[in-house]
Amino acid sequence: MIPAEFAYRRAATVDEALAVLAEHGDEAKLIAGGHSLLPLMKLRFAAPEVVVDIAALTELKFVRLEGDEVVIGALSRHHDLQQDPVLAEHAPLLAHAAGTVGDPQVRHRGTIGGSLAHADAAADLPAVVLAAGGTLVARGPSGQRRIPAAEFFLGPFTTPLEPDELLTEIRLPSQAGLGWAFEKFTRRAMDWAIVGVAVTGHAVGLVNMGGTPLRAGATERALAEGATAADAARLADEGTSPPEEPHASADYRRHLARVLTGRALLRAGVA
Ligand SMILES: Cc1cc2nc3c(=O)[nH]c(=O)nc-3n(C[C@H](O)[C@H](O)[C@H](O)COP(=O)(O)OP(=O)(O)OC[C@H]3O[C@@H](n4cnc5c(N)ncnc54)[C@H](O)[C@@H]3O)c2cc1C
Repeated sequence: MIPAEFAYRRAATVDEALAVLAEHGDEAKLIAGGHSLLPLMKLRFAAPEVVVDIAALTELKFVRLEGDEVVIGALSRHHDLQQDPVLAEHAPLLAHAAGTVGDPQVRHRGTIGGSLAHADAAADLPAVVLAAGGTLVARGPSGQRRIPAAEFFLGPFTTPLEPDELLTEIRLPSQAGLGWAFEKFTRRAMDWAIVGVAVTGHAVGLVNMGGTPLRAGATERALAEGATAADAARLADEGTSPPEEPHASADYRRHLARVLTGRALLRAGVA
């Protein structure tokens, strides 16, 4: 449980972080809250030669409304999201889901940028950002690019981010006025989801139902065609390939996805 030796660099600005990444390429790894990277380093699944600490980048800690979009700095911590008044009005699903991540200690360290960049299909916020039709903004040596959430989660722990790029912000269309709900089924309090379901309007995101966060496409199509919540929920596992684990079989997860989607749609007041 002791990480391999590494050099530590602390960045004070985004430009400084980008300069270190440019210098070291894929030998360097950003660290934000460290709640996903450090466990991997301790298990030696990750062994970066240089760790670039971006926790002090206050320029990436914000939530603001720009027109009809909510813009969230990548270094915003889960606790910040949970408390934020702009999110409470314009992205209540995200604010609520952030409050279900781990325990208070995790929520005071972990960041939304770290959660998305880590791209764990069992994490809560990726499915929420996917359901909300979010866009991720990355900065690299050649400038800034926008990546729709639908194109960001390429596979387990895999994103299109280059080693010399940094996630700066997440943009969500305002969800104000939409019905929403987050259903998360865990084995123990404050744990990762066995399955999670994020509903905002008629969009449904699934946690832990495949190698990436997913949209429940068949359910969404059925709702668009006027199906009841109960009928649409029965389709929630279509097109998914949930993991098979000793404590939760794929079939069990499929069942949970259908039940939780039904509950979430009802709670959100959909159909
Ligand atoms: C005990 C425990 C329980 C947890 N429970 C849950 C849970 O219930 N639900 C849940 O969703 N998550 C859970 N987590 C994970 C937690 O939310 C993490 O905080 C989060 O996944 C990663 O955020 P971080 O800021 O700690 O990222 P880090 O660990 O610092 O980084 C993770 C990865 O993202 C990269 N990265 C970080 N920031 C950026 C950036 N701005 N741009 C590009 N790349 C970046 C890093 O290089 C690294 O590869 C849990 C973690 C722990 C330790």
